[in-house]
Amino acid sequence: MDSIKLKARAKVNLGLDVIRRREDGYHEVRMIMQSIGIYDVVTMRKINDNSIILKTNVSYLPTNENNLIYKAIKLLFDEFDIKQGVVVELEKYIPVAAGMAGGSSDAAAALMGINKLFDLGLSDEELMLRGVKIGADVPFCIMRGTVLAEGIGEILTRLPNFDCNHILVAKPAINVSTKFVYENLKLGEATKHPDIDGMIEDISNKDIYGMCSKMGNVLEDVTINEYKEIEHIKKRMISLGAINAMMSGSGPTVFGIFPDFKIAGKAYNKLCEEKIAKNVYLTKTFQV
Ligand code: ATP
Repeated sequence: MDSIKLKARAKVNLGLDVIRRREDGYHEVRMIMQSIGIYDVVTMRKINDNSIILKTNVSYLPTNENNLIYKAIKLLFDEFDIKQGVVVELEKYIPVAAGMAGGSSDAAAALMGINKLFDLGLSDEELMLRGVKIGADVPFCIMRGTVLAEGIGEILTRLPNFDCNHILVAKPAINVSTKFVYENLKLGEATKHPDIDGMIEDISNKDIYGMCSKMGNVLEDVTINEYKEIEHIKKRMISLGAINAMMSGSGPTVFGIFPDFKIAGKAYNKLCEEKIAKNVYLTKTFQV
């Protein structure tokens, strides 16, 4: 095999709770992660030259060692002493710095691709152990589907599939730094922690209304305090018929879960017409 093409899936957080800030500065989380139909395409081709050449359709993305794809490839090349090289083409469609794990998903695809291209024989679990060195969301991006993420996001438990064909995703024209949001998070008695266990029960019972009623993200207050348009998009999605709408990750992306495809389709058209966000997508959950 000389080349490989992979889809790197975006995610939304159906629920995001932060339990505490650890001594080392990392945050202990409980999140329900869900892969969705939006993806980047990562194509890799072996070359004899011992180099990593990265090309992308997004001009402002780094193509050097600061790109998570580069880091992922370098990690495996170093460990397995690979003397050949690779040309990578990244077709980026997942909005950048959006709370959709775009970079992490690209890194996950790169790890999986290199494993196959160079016959390394690593299992998904072995790839996940390496992935966490690149980013806390990378192991999930290897596992994909509907998953409970604990620890700093790397302790994963597969959940029953949450199947939904009518999700709207809207990314306003702002970029949010995950670091900034976590640094400004103040956990206290007033913090509203989402009922993650209740959500898991609802997902198991295929109770979409129950699950939506419990959706919550403790990071919302921090990001919405800075960017009011996030609250505006949430409210608009709900007024257009969403069962519920919430910010994903550290934001600014908002997603809404709709009762059916027809209502979601109409809401999609309205949101596009109103130019309420930079990018709007009508998508569905993705399961492996
Ligand atoms: P998360 O949901 O995991 O917090 P995110 O969606 O908020 O991630 P990313 O899109 O992954 O954020 O990008 C954050 C930063 O990482 C960007 O500023 C970008 O310069 C850098 N980066 C490095 N590699 C990539 C990549 N392959 N794709 C996107 N961004 C990348």
